[in-house]
Amino acid sequence: MSPPARPAAARNPRILIVEDEPALLRALQINLRARGYEVAAAPTGREALAEATRQPPDAILLDLGLPDLDGAEVIRELRGWSAAPVIVISGRAGSGDKMGALDAGADDYVIKPFNMAELLARLRAALRHGDHAPDRARFSIGRCEIDLTSHTITRNAGPLPAARPAAGQPATPAAGQPATPSETVHLTPTEWRLLEILLTSAGQLVSSDRLLTEVWGHGFERSTHYLRFHMARLRRKLEDDPPRPRYLLTEPGMGYRYQP
Ligand code: CA
Repeated sequence: MSPPARPAAARNPRILIVEDEPALLRALQINLRARGYEVAAAPTGREALAEATRQPPDAILLDLGLPDLDGAEVIRELRGWSAAPVIVISGRAGSGDKMGALDAGADDYVIKPFNMAELLARLRAALRHGDHAPDRARFSIGRCEIDLTSHTITRNAGPLPAARPAAGQPATPAAGQPATPSETVHLTPTEWRLLEILLTSAGQLVSSDRLLTEVWGHGFERSTHYLRFHMARLRRKLEDDPPRPRYLLTEPGMGYRYQP
C-alpha cells in the first residue's frame, strides 16, 4: 500500500538539470516540460548548489563534467543537506567515474548518448524512491520551526507576559494585548546554506574551514569574518535571546555547532 498523497505531491515534481552543453540542456528541458515537470537549469556546479538551496528540487539530473566543480563534488556537497535523488548523466563510461559518483551519493547513472525514454523511466523510478525518503528535514531553534524541504521557517507565537491568567481564569489575552502571531522568518541563500550544514550535522562541531569552503568555495578558508557576520545574522533571526545563543553555538578557534 502506498501512503496517502501528501499535499506537496499535488504540485508537479521539480527537476534541476545541471548540464553545460546548451543543446543537451535544451533537449532535456523540452522533454521534461512536455511531461509536466517543473524544470530549473544550471550550467555549473556552483550555480546548481545555489539553485538547489534557493528552491529544493525533487530530483537532480547531473552532468559529471562541469566547467567549475567535478560532478561528484557537487553530489557530496548536496548530500550534506539534501535527500533528493540524483541521476548522473555522463560522457564518462569508466567504472571508476561511475563508482565515484555512486559513492558520493548518486542514485543512478546514465551514459551519454542516452535514450530519452529510458532516462525518463529512470527519473520516474528515482522520484518514487525519493517519496519514501525519511523525513530528516525538520528542526527547531527555540520558537522557530525549520523545514529544510520546503525552505520555510515559522516562529511560533510567543508567551504573553502581561496576559497570564489569574487562578481559575481562562488563558485568554487581556483586551488590547493581542497574542504575538506566528510569523515567517526569511533567510538569504547564504544563511540557508550555513544553517543547513549546521542542522544536518546536529550536535557535531562543524569546522570553520568546512563551512567557508562549502558555502563560499575553495580559497575562502581564511574569511572567518564572513562566518561571524552571517552567524550573528542567523542568531538574530532565529534565537530567542541572540546575545546568549542556546542553539547556534560558537566553538572558539574551531567552528560552530547546532545544539538541538
Ligand atoms: Ca559537460
